[in-house]
Amino acid sequence: MPDILPEDAALMRWVEDTAQSVFDLFGFSEIRTPLLEETEVFTRSIGQDTDIVQKEMYSFTDRGGKNISLRPEGTASIIRAYIEHGWNNEKDLVKVFYSGPMFRGERPQKGRLRQFHQIGAETIGGSGPLIDAEMIFSLDVLLRELKISGFTILLNSLGCPADRDAYKKELSRYLEKKSEGLCEDCRKRAGTNVLRVLDCKREACKEAVKLAPSILEKLCGECRRDFEELKKALGHMGISFTEKPDLVRGLDYYTGTIFEVVHQALGSQDAVAAGGRYDGLTKQMGGADAGAIGYAIGVERLLLLVDRAKASRAEKGVLVIPADDGSRECAFGLSNKLRMSGVACETDLLGRSLKSLLRKANKESRRFVVIIGEEERKSGKLVLKNMETGEQQSLSFEEIVAYLKT
Ligand code: ATP
Ligand code: MG
Repeated sequence: MPDILPEDAALMRWVEDTAQSVFDLFGFSEIRTPLLEETEVFTRSIGQDTDIVQKEMYSFTDRGGKNISLRPEGTASIIRAYIEHGWNNEKDLVKVFYSGPMFRGERPQKGRLRQFHQIGAETIGGSGPLIDAEMIFSLDVLLRELKISGFTILLNSLGCPADRDAYKKELSRYLEKKSEGLCEDCRKRAGTNVLRVLDCKREACKEAVKLAPSILEKLCGECRRDFEELKKALGHMGISFTEKPDLVRGLDYYTGTIFEVVHQALGSQDAVAAGGRYDGLTKQMGGADAGAIGYAIGVERLLLLVDRAKASRAEKGVLVIPADDGSRECAFGLSNKLRMSGVACETDLLGRSLKSLLRKANKESRRFVVIIGEEERKSGKLVLKNMETGEQQSLSFEEIVAYLKT
């Protein structure tokens, strides 16, 4: 669970602000759910046989004897909130986004942390290819707003529960013949969560599933039509994607459309975002039936992809420099007056010399400094120095405020 130091925090803030403005364009409102939930919220949604529930959750008993867990992802809490607040009575789509830390006890490595951040969005209360297309479009727009290029959108459909069950049976039959080549985990998965075998990163397992049947060939008429329409809509919006029939997701609740965004620059943990449709989940969690789709972006992996030079970051404010010890009090008062007038600034609180403060301003690439010495205190005019050009002007307080604000 890493500390996020100022440089990365600034970058993260830029990512979050950009996401907020993209979600505004698409009509998503923000939701903030608690970091802790009753463990059941996750076990009932994510699924008992998933890696998250089996071995990654931080769970404990609280003082009231309740079993609670740090959230490993965002969707389960949102569906819990959707049911709890009776949003299904609204007869309209509920479109929300979230941003915040998630917790999973995984083996830490590049792109895999125990506390990491996700930005995600959900559209609940309907289904159909246009909703799916809008979701994927919003993700594509966001990545492009963050000036990320070279990513690939992988697309698949898991069909309706009947399609999925039929496919699981067929896949199990296929894997029976291959079971010797599978790793120990996958031999277990073949009995409990067979789709996950398609997702194993071990070479031997990859080899074993190479000729496995494709789920896309097993879709019923309606699911097939929906998938074709989604692809057509994405085509119309100019979104390129790669169809990947063996794409599956680590959580049990997905149905229909699923997708993942991968980027080569990330190495072995190459997924920067992932999502899909989960039409059965509201009912499974005790609410009324409602179609739903969502995705989550891994912010730390995203930060590995953003070009730091292109990320707009706030520059440091003006440095107010006392030219001598007698002017320190004035400089302190002046800096506070500047802040009250909306000018970002700092002054020296460590008793440093004029020379060392000019050096500091240079090192921090500050564009302006204001210098106040004995003469300035007498005349009421201050020195405004442009650090890029070296140019100096003698100005009143009001003139400095007006100048810096324009
Ligand atoms: P992976 O296959 O990498 O384990 P996942 O299927 O567990 O990912 P999701 O639960 O779908 O991932 O989460 C969506 C995104 O969150 C992932 O694509 C990834 O970018 C990010 N993510 C997931 N787990 C971690 C982690 N432990 N550390 C950092 N980022 C993560
Ligand atoms: Mg995972």
